[in-house]
Amino acid sequence: MPNELLTKLRDTQSLTEAEYATLIQGYTPELAEKAATYAVAVRKEIYENEVYLRGLIEISNICKNDCLYCGIRKSNQNCERYRLTEEEILSCCEEGYNLGFRTFVLQGGEDGYFTDRVMIPLLYTIKERYPDCAITLSLGERSYKSYESLFDAGADRYLLRHETADRDHYQSLHPSSLSYDIRM
Ligand code: SF4
Repeated sequence: MPNELLTKLRDTQSLTEAEYATLIQGYTPELAEKAATYAVAVRKEIYENEVYLRGLIEISNICKNDCLYCGIRKSNQNCERYRLTEEEILSCCEEGYNLGFRTFVLQGGEDGYFTDRVMIPLLYTIKERYPDCAITLSLGERSYKSYESLFDAGADRYLLRHETADRDHYQSLHPSSLSYDIRM
């Protein structure tokens, strides 16, 4: 059964929740090997052997959250904190562009400084200067309206990590977050 589900996942790119559960529960090293083989075939079909470089700009290591596994969690007293200015971020983009990067990833902790009021003009400026570049943001959880405004200002993609689907565990990691909501 897990074998058929793996083939279905390869062919349709999707399974039902119950099917994912069956697939995971039926894990064997052989099944993992097969999944890796399928993944390599799909990757080759789409990207062949090309390598895509992203210009990663770590704009801040300040974060209001306290994820235990993370080096920049707020309770880590040994972390030397910094936050780039808008000018420094633009200067990184300029250098990256001259080096040949065509995607910029602006990444940071959940730093309250980088509100939409700060990010929107910054995104407009980057897009105006480098219209042939894609912008990815990775700045933690924001409201739906915020994501929409950032997209409208020029952000092409947003990276968000799925840390846990367990509400209690999640809230122990993000005690100040109000935005968590499981939708099935
Ligand atoms: S929200 Fe992200 S940056 Fe902040 S502590 Fe958690 S993992 Fe680290």
